[in-house]
Amino acid sequence: MKWVSHVVSGVGAVLAVSYFIFHEPLYTSLILASTAGVLGSLLPDIHHPPMKRNAFLHSLIGAVLTPIPFVMVFCFAYYTIYDKMVPIEQVYLIYKMIVLAYLLHLFGDSLSAGGIYLCYPFKRKKTALAHIAYDDPYLNYSFIAVSVLLILVTLAIGSKELLELPFK
Ligand SMILES: [Zn+2]
Repeated sequence: MKWVSHVVSGVGAVLAVSYFIFHEPLYTSLILASTAGVLGSLLPDIHHPPMKRNAFLHSLIGAVLTPIPFVMVFCFAYYTIYDKMVPIEQVYLIYKMIVLAYLLHLFGDSLSAGGIYLCYPFKRKKTALAHIAYDDPYLNYSFIAVSVLLILVTLAIGSKELLELPFK
C-alpha cells in the first residue's frame, strides 16, 4: 500500500481502538492517533532499500522491537522536560498503539505481491495473503474509506465529551 493509506489506516485504527476498546477519553485518543498511529504506520518503511521491503522491519519481531527505542526516547524527553517519569501504564498504552499501527502496516503489505517476512529471522520465506499491486487503487481506497469512516464515527460519538470539557 502507499504510505498515505498506511498512515490514514494507522490513525483510524488507533483512534477507534483507544476510544472504544481501551476507553480512553477522546482527546487522549486523538493525541495517540496523531502520534503513535502516524509513527507506527511509518516505522516499517524507515529503511527501504529501492523496491525491496526490509525483512526485519516487516516481521513480527520487528513489530515488537522497533517501537521500543522510540518509546524510550519519548520517556527520556518527558523526564528531562518535566523532571518526572511517565506512568508505566501510559508508556505501555503508547507502546501498544504504535504496535497496533505497525501491525496494520504489515497486514496492508501482506496483501500485496511483495509480501512480508512474518517469521524473520527464523524463516526467510515471504508471506503474502494476496497478490494485489501496492498501488492498486481499490486496495488503497478501500483502506482509506474504512479508516475515514472509523475516524468519523469515533469523532461523532466522542464529540459530546469534547463539548463538555471545561475550556472556558
Ligand atoms: Zn512496508
